[in-house]
Amino acid sequence: MGGSYRPAVGGRYFEDINPANGKLVAHIARSDAADLQLAVDQAQDAFRSWSRTTPEARAEILYAIAGGIARRGEEFALAETLDTGKPIAFSRSVDIPRAAANFRFFAAAATQFASEAHEMPGRAINYTLRQPVGIVGCIAPWNLPLYLMSWKIAPALAAGNCVVAKPSEWSPVTAAMLGEVCNEAGLPPGVLSVLQGLGPEIGEAIVDHPEVKAISFTGGTLTGARIASRAAPAFKKTSLELGGKNPCIVFADCDYPRTLREIERLAFSNSGQICLCGSRIFVEQSLYERLAADLVEALAKLQPADPLDPATRLGALISEAHLQKVHGYVERARLEGGNILCGGSRMPGAGAFYPPTLIEGLGPESACNLEEIFGPVATLQPFATEEEALELANHSTYGLAATLWTENLSRAHRMASALQTGIVWVNTWLLRDLRTPFGGVKHSGTGREGGWEAMRFFTEPKNVCINFGPRNA
Ligand code: NDP
Repeated sequence: MGGSYRPAVGGRYFEDINPANGKLVAHIARSDAADLQLAVDQAQDAFRSWSRTTPEARAEILYAIAGGIARRGEEFALAETLDTGKPIAFSRSVDIPRAAANFRFFAAAATQFASEAHEMPGRAINYTLRQPVGIVGCIAPWNLPLYLMSWKIAPALAAGNCVVAKPSEWSPVTAAMLGEVCNEAGLPPGVLSVLQGLGPEIGEAIVDHPEVKAISFTGGTLTGARIASRAAPAFKKTSLELGGKNPCIVFADCDYPRTLREIERLAFSNSGQICLCGSRIFVEQSLYERLAADLVEALAKLQPADPLDPATRLGALISEAHLQKVHGYVERARLEGGNILCGGSRMPGAGAFYPPTLIEGLGPESACNLEEIFGPVATLQPFATEEEALELANHSTYGLAATLWTENLSRAHRMASALQTGIVWVNTWLLRDLRTPFGGVKHSGTGREGGWEAMRFFTEPKNVCINFGPRNA
């Protein structure tokens, strides 16, 4: 905060635990409303000059932040893995490079974001100024900590805002390191404050503070609803990226080897702890038995192991409590008559390790098909026709992302148009072009991040109308 580390005003700390071995990683300052007030005071001072810097000057600092993350990439990757239990290979290849890429992308966006002008011929010209909102709150979850935090902070800064940021208490370290990188990159003190602490304390204080004018939140649907209800009476802008229960629809005419390989990735990357992971796998009847058998065989080779081993592809879950929640869903599936094809019980030994679990034989109303588990658990269901696949896929309160696996182009377009999700991937998963809108429909959230959508969210449009018609006309 204010360009330096400081303890919380209340002098309190919380423990940051490595879920792979239960050991303490660090004691982290536990901030609350008093710390937020300091950050807001500094942000108000900083905003006067930061909001008037040129886009080029802001871009230069954002490029320097990207460079700082990249230079310390190994340190960042290690911190992410110790905090979350995710494989170091994943932190190295996904989390950290993508966080740096977010800063590079929005550095460029800052310089390309243009005003619009509309002429009323012979009468007037209207133009739209896009002005920074002011102080904005960015609240991120633990599953992709730096990646998702940078996805918010980078556009907010690019647009000229000051930011109060709260990482999850389960993954605090890389956000603290980001603060250090920002200082080194020349970001003026007060423009960004990272406030560590607990959701109901510092998170809620950020949402409630009258000087925080917009909230960009990624997290669970219930938390999102709570934030929306608190922000609404103050008419704050909110962008809410929430949970998912994503369908993966496999047609018999798919490119089978590629589909099989990708299903393993889309369902179990980061132990299923990615909002975009597919957790309901629908397979055309004629392919069902073959795919189920091949998937079980493939998953036998995908077992959780030491996250620090570069060869590990599956690490630990975020916490013991989360593992218990995930396992609770598997137990419910058993009671509901589900057939556990593989996995289904924790790994022996210490650490929150849970194997990939595939369940078949559950109806669309089972908890495992309706609720977000956010772990390495996916269901398999057969379908007979395209219409049935669509109906099953859309039978969800969520609507984040869907994947389609087919070589039939017309079908791909038809299905993509009819699926009730914010994102549809055809024959791929997690292929991201940062210019495209990102977000979901239904209980998966409101608003979109990415590209101009993010720049629009972090600015207020002001219409200026200049009358140049003849006097007295
Ligand atoms: P939570 O909703 O529990 O927490 C998200 C963030 O909000 C954390 O920083 C948390 O702090 C904070 N928070 C918690 N309570 C409050 C509150 N009352 N007011 C303000 N902030 C609060 O989600 P998880 O961290 O468990 O993340 C998993 C969820 O995130 C899943 O549902 C997943 O689908 C979703 N997600 C959505 C994505 C998307 O783009 N749509 C992407 C990634 C994840 P603390 O952790 O300290 O409690």
